[in-house]
Amino acid sequence: MSERTYREIPITTLANGYSLALPVHEITGDRPGPTLGMTALIHGDELLPNIVFRRLWQELDPAELRGKLIMIPVANPLALESFTRNTPQDMSNLNRVFPGVADGMFTEQLAHIIMEEFVPGLDYLVDWHAGGTFPVVDYVFMSPGAPTLAHAFGLSVIYDGPIFEGALANLTEKQGIPTIIIEIGGGALRDALYIESGLRGAFNVMKELDMLDGDPTVPDEQILVKQLATIRPSMGGVLYPEVGLDHLGKVVPGGSVLGRVISPYTFEEIEVLEAPFERSLLVLVRATPTRVNPGDYAFMAPIAGQLIAESILHGEMKKVESDALNPARYEAAGLAAMKAQSPGFTLVGVARTSTNRLRSKGASSTSISSKV
Ligand SMILES: [Zn+2]
Repeated sequence: MSERTYREIPITTLANGYSLALPVHEITGDRPGPTLGMTALIHGDELLPNIVFRRLWQELDPAELRGKLIMIPVANPLALESFTRNTPQDMSNLNRVFPGVADGMFTEQLAHIIMEEFVPGLDYLVDWHAGGTFPVVDYVFMSPGAPTLAHAFGLSVIYDGPIFEGALANLTEKQGIPTIIIEIGGGALRDALYIESGLRGAFNVMKELDMLDGDPTVPDEQILVKQLATIRPSMGGVLYPEVGLDHLGKVVPGGSVLGRVISPYTFEEIEVLEAPFERSLLVLVRATPTRVNPGDYAFMAPIAGQLIAESILHGEMKKVESDALNPARYEAAGLAAMKAQSPGFTLVGVARTSTNRLRSKGASSTSISSKV
């Protein structure tokens, strides 16, 4: 019988005596099918996915569903309360401490409960994130086990890279649960657009998994990127961006000024942040002047180049012609380690290629097999 249920998983008792719990929505379809998990607000200042979940809860008809959708709309309640990325009680980043520790710090205990009480029984996981208080972001983080889900979600940029140790997605992948990470919206900018995009992506994933009738709606062109530079200021101040929302998902030339860090005291320019690659594809920007601390996420830009980027056109890979890498900027961006990597990759279910692009720098002998 199809139904919607709401329950709470007890976490702990706080110092003030209040009970803390994890909210869980379950939407169960009439017919059998996979169990899809979704998590939001692992980082407390990433609200947009929670708004998407509410829309999903309102609009998904259990009678049309095969299988079950289990959503945790607030995975880190205390971080939501303080609207901070990390948990205020121990300043810890929940998405770096999975699988957690039963008798560890608070955030480790929380991770442990999520692993013990939520993850078992999942067939797939979509872990949702956003840009946070200031940045706005727009891409899918593909894990090795879920290329078709990343494709089907339907955003324009798919990042195929290593997942942080201690991230929920890292652990679920190790358990054989195909997982994708959605990075969408943030900064309270263009929320309506990203809510619709996220909702479409959620339905797309369920269509891909045959939990709903129909085919996913994906853009004609999606860009797969392998190397992603995070541009962080080395000094704090007010970051005045020179790129905006219109640049998100677009390529800017290497050396383009992305923003300037200005002293709020003296108004001096204390740092200039530039696009690190000859063809830098912007996937995270700050669109208005914002406070930055040293090391904050200011911009994120993967290389959009023939060495590591392809378009997926109607399910088939197509190489994109572009500039070669610029080693000097690699070094300048502190990315020497990336240069040494040899990221042959496999995109099972969509297309496959095995060429070592970075080591074969300058060569364009990427071999791409047919759809598998
Ligand atoms: Zn996050």
